[in-house]
Amino acid sequence: MVGTYDLHYYQIDQIKRVRIVRRSDGCYVQFCIQADRNVDIQPAGKTIELDVGLSAFYTDSNGLKVDNPRHLRKSEKALKRLQKRVSRKKKGSNNRKRAVKKLGRKHLKVSRQRKDHAVKQALCVVKSNDFVAFEKLQIRNMVKNRRLAKSISDAGWSQFTQWLEYFGKVYGRIVVSVPPQYTSQNCSECGEVVKKSLSMRTHICKCGCVLDRDHNAAINILDKALKQAGYQLSTVGHTETHNAWEPLRW
Ligand SMILES: [Zn+2]
Repeated sequence: MVGTYDLHYYQIDQIKRVRIVRRSDGCYVQFCIQADRNVDIQPAGKTIELDVGLSAFYTDSNGLKVDNPRHLRKSEKALKRLQKRVSRKKKGSNNRKRAVKKLGRKHLKVSRQRKDHAVKQALCVVKSNDFVAFEKLQIRNMVKNRRLAKSISDAGWSQFTQWLEYFGKVYGRIVVSVPPQYTSQNCSECGEVVKKSLSMRTHICKCGCVLDRDHNAAINILDKALKQAGYQLSTVGHTETHNAWEPLRW
């Protein structure tokens, strides 16, 4: 058996479940193992608030944008071509079976690329911040909007947030999700509601606050997250404030 982890390292009674999974490039055996995974790392002294949007994979409260991986879109042409090949082949023929296999492998590759990106981004965010806040998106509702559906499922956001929460536990970081109400509509300076359609990318408020839409939302998300944790943004500030909520940890 060829594996990614050395199974001999674990006791037999730690193996809780074994599952055989068939993918288009072969069969896999998954071992579900009970193990405590805790990694001690130094406090990073930083906080981060993420807003996942359509124009970027996420935007953080410092204004940094991480680009969307458009694996699916890039591979779309290839997928279409392979799909066409399948439908041209005679039903039940060996040629068709072969074409189906090729198509399945391409889909598999795209989904692996998507997962890989989500895991790497999440690990990077958790390792370099003590406090991570993000917006809990109602992705299922958003996918109903057909125009957005492709970008949303392509970005793999739900995977990303799941990995954020997982790595948060592993590395002992605080990961908070915030309900999404009005985070993009309210002004992060004065709290006034500034109505925006999805296509409006800049937040412009009467109070003079002009910010990128996602940046504004990210600051609002931090505000909410700290309020949930019992702190006010005004007493904490945005950055270099880890001491303010140090007692919160553990
Ligand atoms: Zn304002």
